[in-house]
Amino acid sequence: MRAEEAIQRLETHKEYISPHGRFTKEAIDMAIKALEKQTPKKFLWDDGNPVCPVCGEEVWDMEWCNSCGQRLDRELDTIIEEE
Ligand SMILES: [Zn+2]
Repeated sequence: MRAEEAIQRLETHKEYISPHGRFTKEAIDMAIKALEKQTPKKFLWDDGNPVCPVCGEEVWDMEWCNSCGQRLDRELDTIIEEE
């Protein structure tokens, strides 16, 4: 199962938790956040420097954000659309 699918399933499940399940909801939110960090996101450019799309800090590693731990996808920066 891909992280995106797991996030989607957790989000759906969250809707069915009763209002008393506050801590369960909190646990699900934590799991979603952790999964989102694992899902590679394309970094952004700021003044010619690559920056993290989540926290906006400059990226040094290109694979992980050193500030917030977001996984980054450098491959996505190259346009691979071929027809
Ligand atoms: Zn970051």
